Amino acid sequence: LRMAIRRNHTCCHILQAALREVLGEHVHQCGSYVDANQCRFDFSHFSAMTPEELQKVENYVNKVILEAVPVTTEVLPIEEAKKKGAMALFGEKYGDVVRVVSVGDYSTEFCGGTHLTNSSQAGLFKIVFETSVASGVRRIQAITGMAVMSMLYDYKDTLEKTCAVLRTPNFDELPHRAESLLAEVREKNAKIESMEQAAANAKLGDIFADVPEINGVKLVCAKLDGMGADGLRKTGDSIAEKFDCFVAVLAGTADGKSNILCKCSKSAVEKGANAGTLVREIAAVAGGKGGGKPDSAMAGVPDAAKLGAALDAAKDIAAKYIK
Ligand SMILES: [Zn+2]
Repeated sequence: LRMAIRRNHTCCHILQAALREVLGEHVHQCGSYVDANQCRFDFSHFSAMTPEELQKVENYVNKVILEAVPVTTEVLPIEEAKKKGAMALFGEKYGDVVRVVSVGDYSTEFCGGTHLTNSSQAGLFKIVFETSVASGVRRIQAITGMAVMSMLYDYKDTLEKTCAVLRTPNFDELPHRAESLLAEVREKNAKIESMEQAAANAKLGDIFADVPEINGVKLVCAKLDGMGADGLRKTGDSIAEKFDCFVAVLAGTADGKSNILCKCSKSAVEKGANAGTLVREIAAVAGGKGGGKPDSAMAGVPDAAKLGAALDAAKDIAAKYIK
């Protein structure tokens, strides 16, 4: 356990050197936290790190680990420590004599903590995430040693489970398999949509069979089960293609929501029909609310069972306005 803390602590020091090398000299430590499971390092930097930068930093730290450089501790007068270029924590008060920890020639820092004696003892270093903690301050959380192996096993486990679910023999084929499955879903969705449209058109055939007229305005009323708001709008468009002068009142329920759409042709609006007014009055019969423009309006109805009553009232309501 103590070695795990040391691994994370020493890597925290190497990480600072790596960040200054990859991102620039503006990087300063704003805080750090080390325990047996992780090292967390907060530093000054003004934008999120790119995946390439993160990889460069990881590679730098792992290179220092593989070089097996000694980690040394010296107790020095503060002036001498400063002359050596030791990094101090900004705003921190130090005494006349300080402890300085060096990782080879890579890092020299004021530090009172316990460390590895050689960088190679860290084994492996892996960044888990990089995020913002405050304006101009980023945080890196990283793991070392066997924790990196556990992370690899977790990844492998996830990939194997995904392979099993997608019935794919190996990892390399996963992206291709996922893409082709998504393409399949899109294709099937398109097919379902066109079948639904065909079914709706078939229903419309019945509706168009016997359409009443009020002063030359065709009144198309229909209850379309299983049709949501989008379906109602599409059906309204089909009616507009078929009739020149019409008022359409379409009701449907889908996913537990009931809607009434009212659509009026321009010529019907000229004769006094107003979709906004009509849909409000018709929906009110079923306890619903809504509104919209003179040519198109939508209302929601809380109780699907009352849609029939609302549609039955539609003709009388429309007749009040169409002159
Ligand atoms: Zn330290």
